[in-house]
Amino acid sequence: MSTPQPRANVAEIPPYVAGRPPTVRPGMTSYKLSSNENPYPPLPGVVEAVQAGVGAMNRYPDMGSTALYAALGESFGVPVDHLSVATGSVGLIYQLVQAFCDPGDEVVYAWRSFEAYPIAVTAAAATSVQVPVLADGRHDLDAMAAAVTDRTKIVLVCTPNNPTGPAVTQTELDAFLAKVPGHVLVVVDEAYVEFVRMDDAVDGIATYRRHDNVVLTRTFSKAYGLAGFRVGYAVAPAPIAGALRAVSLPFGVSTIAQAAAIASLERSAELFERVDELVAERARVVAGLREVGWDVPEPQGNFVWFGLGDRTAEFAAAADEAGIVVRPFAGEGARVSIGEDEANDRLISVAAAFR
Ligand SMILES: *Cc1c(COP(=O)(O)O)cnc(C)c1O
Repeated sequence: MSTPQPRANVAEIPPYVAGRPPTVRPGMTSYKLSSNENPYPPLPGVVEAVQAGVGAMNRYPDMGSTALYAALGESFGVPVDHLSVATGSVGLIYQLVQAFCDPGDEVVYAWRSFEAYPIAVTAAAATSVQVPVLADGRHDLDAMAAAVTDRTKIVLVCTPNNPTGPAVTQTELDAFLAKVPGHVLVVVDEAYVEFVRMDDAVDGIATYRRHDNVVLTRTFSKAYGLAGFRVGYAVAPAPIAGALRAVSLPFGVSTIAQAAAIASLERSAELFERVDELVAERARVVAGLREVGWDVPEPQGNFVWFGLGDRTAEFAAAADEAGIVVRPFAGEGARVSIGEDEANDRLISVAAAFR
C-alpha cells in the first residue's frame, strides 16, 4: 500500500453519536434532552472567573493545574497526588486504557453503558468484554467478576449507569471488589454521583481509600454544568493518579476550564441546590410516568431510560414532534435527560400518549 495506513484497530472504532440539538419549530420552544446536560445557566461568579481567564488567552494554561488540584484536594479531603485532572472524564477513560492496557488486553464493562467506553478501548487496540446489564438496567456484577480473565487489565463500573439509570450499592460494590484480583484496575465512573439519592449509596472516596486498585472518575460536565469546558478528575492511589498524569495531554485543561471548575467548587452549595431541584424533578417525572403506566428503571442520574425496543425511533419522533429531543439507541431504547420543568411536562405527556 502506497499511502500511510493507521493501525487496523482505528477502522474499528465505533462512532460517537452525540445527542442531537432540538429541532427548531416556529412558535414553540424546543428543548434538548439528549445529552444529560444541566439545564441551568452558569452561576454568576463562575462567568466572572472565566472572563478573567479570557483576557489571558495568549498565555498557556497553568500546566500543573495547581490551583485546581488544591481546590479539589480541599473539597474532597484527598492528597493532591491522589488526583489527576483531564479534559472531561472521557479524557480520563482514554488515559486509563492507554496507561494500563497493551494491545489485546481486556477491558470488562457493562453493556449497554457509556458509549465512549468501546471507543476508548478500541482506540488503544485493547479488547472490549461487554457484559449485558440485567433486565432492570442494573450492572450484573457477578457476571462481570466472572468475565475477568488473565488478559483483563481494567473493569469499568458505571454508577449510575448511563443510559439505563440505576446505581450499584456499596454492598454490591464491596462484594465485587472482594472477587476481583488486586492487579486488575477497577474504575468507578461516577459522572452522576451528585444526583444519587438511595439507601446504601456508594461512598467512592471511602472505597478508594480501602483499595489499591480503585480509581474514581468524576466530571464537571453534569451536576456542575460545565460540559462545554471539558474538565474532569480522577481520584486514585498515588501510583495510579501518577500514571494518569504521565499520559495526559500537556496543557489539556484550558485556563478558562480551570477557572470555571475552581469557581464552581467555591459555589458548590448553590450548585447543589440546583441539583436538588433536578432530583425533585426526576421524582416528579418518575411519578408522572408511573401514573400513566410506564415503569422505568430506577433513575439515579439526571436522566430516565425507556426500554422501547423496536418502538424507539417512533418514540423519538413523537418526542421531537412535541419539541423535545431525546437520545434514541436504535432498537434498544431512549434516554431522556431531566431538563427544564416545561420540558419534563412534555416528556410526561408524550409518554402518556405513546402507550
Ligand atoms: C457524561 C459522562 C461522562 C463524562 O463526560 P465528560 O464531559 O467527558 O466529563 C463520563 N461517564 C459517563 C457515564 C457519562 O455519562
